[in-house]
Amino acid sequence: MVRVGLQISATLENIQTLKTHEDYPYFFKLTCSNCGESSNKWHDITESERVQQDTRNADGFNFYMKCKMCGRENSMDVVEKTNVPYTADDSGKYKTIVVFDCRGVEPVEFSPRSGWKVECAENGQKFEDVDLSEDDWVEYDQKNKNSVGVYEFASKFIKLKK
Ligand code: ZN
Repeated sequence: MVRVGLQISATLENIQTLKTHEDYPYFFKLTCSNCGESSNKWHDITESERVQQDTRNADGFNFYMKCKMCGRENSMDVVEKTNVPYTADDSGKYKTIVVFDCRGVEPVEFSPRSGWKVECAENGQKFEDVDLSEDDWVEYDQKNKNSVGVYEFASKFIKLKK
């Protein structure tokens, strides 16, 4: 089993925190570590969702797939309590925001899409369903009367030692 951290980097303007949550679907492209197969398909993994629950494995997994090439059964889970917010102090730097246990499959590309939560600086407005599909997001904070934004969103993966 491999532990993989998702790192993100962004420039935050008048934003205190940018975060995912247990109902947020992470969209990944994956590679099978057994045969090296990687398809162009996006797969979604959500911490609050469980699949493939049976008598052998009552808890199931956050994500399960059988590799089309080699037939191996692969799965992934969000590691409990590893999901942390990206904050104003992290702006412009890479930070690990969540960690996955990867069994037989590893993420190679991340698509941020929508569902992010944003809290503006100075106790400003809160946004519940922020869309980062374009890698930039701009809004107006009605409470503080200033513009807020997420710019130059980027992501990468790091392998972590247990
Ligand atoms: Zn395979």
